[in-house]
Amino acid sequence: MKRFLALVCALLLIGSFSLADGSVPGSRICLVCGSPTDESECPVCGALRECWVCYDCLTKNLSDTCMVCRTEKRDSLACQAEDPRPLTAWPAVSHLAAEGDPENLLRLGRYYEKGIMVTQDTDQALALFRKAGEAGYAPAWLYLGKLYDGGIMVGQDFTAAMECYQKAADLGDAEAFWYIGSFYEEGSGVAQSYSMAMDYYQMAADRGDADSIMSIASFYLKGYGVGEDPQKALELYRKAADAGSGLACDYMGYLYMTGYLVEQDIEKGLEWYRKAAALGIARSMYALGYAYQCGQGVEIDLEEAARWYEMAALAGHRNALLVYRVLRP
Ligand SMILES: [Zn+2]
Ligand SMILES: [Zn+2]
Repeated sequence: MKRFLALVCALLLIGSFSLADGSVPGSRICLVCGSPTDESECPVCGALRECWVCYDCLTKNLSDTCMVCRTEKRDSLACQAEDPRPLTAWPAVSHLAAEGDPENLLRLGRYYEKGIMVTQDTDQALALFRKAGEAGYAPAWLYLGKLYDGGIMVGQDFTAAMECYQKAADLGDAEAFWYIGSFYEEGSGVAQSYSMAMDYYQMAADRGDADSIMSIASFYLKGYGVGEDPQKALELYRKAADAGSGLACDYMGYLYMTGYLVEQDIEKGLEWYRKAAALGIARSMYALGYAYQCGQGVEIDLEEAARWYEMAALAGHRNALLVYRVLRP
């Protein structure tokens, strides 16, 4: 019953925010509860209009510096907006978005996309993404590009996706160059061209996107637009891994485990999988779980296996979740 009441309260709270959907950029936002307000006291929570809550020490303040821990209001709001819990982040997100802060325009757009704290509204979400992009924020163009690319929320439209990726690339976003390269590789919305793809992958790599070196490596492995050269490919996979590409570390692990392109070496394989796992690659976490479960290069250790499967499942690996549930019913 208590749990039920807590849920109802939470829903009512969210409902009251939803009703207050006037949180369009332009209106003033209460920094305590996130409701739009132009009054001297918030009509929802009663806080004074200057009042803000310090993210570090939870003290309520009126001046721009926290009276207890001396954190600046601006820094506190920026940290609060990044909190993964929407209820906590919301006042800062809507306030900063209303001020035109591009990062939070994108964040607010995602709230509208998912219907978090506000009523789901695709048009509003798209308008906010575009506004964030037009304010010169490359991740917003990249995000919008991926929506058109994948046909998420909008009809699939490679031309629109390409325009967005191009805008992100113009702002120097390395990942955007990779996406444009992948369009040329596949011939999506453009004439298929391995050499154009290679040029864009190289531009992405030059701007620090280590995963792009992997794409170049795969061209040498398959002989796309270049002479087939497995040795050169291996060199590039290693280079991508050393440059911090988790995917490349995972692939190096696979190569050593299977003896493809290199002499099989289980210990080296596991070492690469550990590096990839540390970079968040779920497939490597799963492979490590499997190694501990079956004693592949290590002593069988079901506790350790379950720990890796758990991490892999949390990182989104479906099979890992199934095995984890078997190991720890
Ligand atoms: Zn309030
Ligand atoms: Zn403080």
